[in-house]
Amino acid sequence: MPAESRSHVTVLAGPTAVGKGTISTYIRDNYPEVWLSVSATTRAPRPGEQEGVHYFFLPPEEFESLVERGEMLEWAVVHGQNRYGTIRSKVQEAVDAGKHVLLEIDLQGARQVKESMPEAKFVFLAPPTWEELVRRLVGRGTESEAEQQRRLDTAKLELAAEPEFDVTIVNDEIRRAADELVSHMGLTPHTR
Ligand code: 5GP
Repeated sequence: MPAESRSHVTVLAGPTAVGKGTISTYIRDNYPEVWLSVSATTRAPRPGEQEGVHYFFLPPEEFESLVERGEMLEWAVVHGQNRYGTIRSKVQEAVDAGKHVLLEIDLQGARQVKESMPEAKFVFLAPPTWEELVRRLVGRGTESEAEQQRRLDTAKLELAAEPEFDVTIVNDEIRRAADELVSHMGLTPHTR
């Protein structure tokens, strides 16, 4: 990989429910100059999710075969259920084309990318406060109470990983946080 392209990879990670998905959606809709990586997953599509836009929805055997062939840049089982991963060749193509690449992945995945691409920029998305994170997780109402508790336990561990990252962005307001992210990517924020 040419050295000058390496600096164009940014990894965004952070605890569950902090709003990584919302920031990515905002970036996808507002910053066409960012190449947002589309992950592969074994989970089923949610209503409105499109193949190749939100994820590549793969049967478990197909996901497994990509892993076995070494075609995943990183992958992880997230929330003890489904597998998620980044297809190496797709990222490589974007990097080779000089694009500003953004990977929105979980913490386990971020650590793997750090092993193979230590020159990437690692951005930690943090909640304004712990109470706000709890409010967001409970408020979205998509998980059972037991599942919420499990995710909060995971979130506590994930928050402790902040020092592993190059920079922290507090997700207090979606547009502001997204603008801060793109400026860390070396791009000009639209609203400043
Ligand atoms: P969801 O199922 O809500 O779309 O995503 C669940 C979690 O999977 C989020 O924390 C998201 O960051 C993580 N995730 C999405 N894509 C990837 C990926 O390619 N690799 C890893 N390691 N995690 C991912």
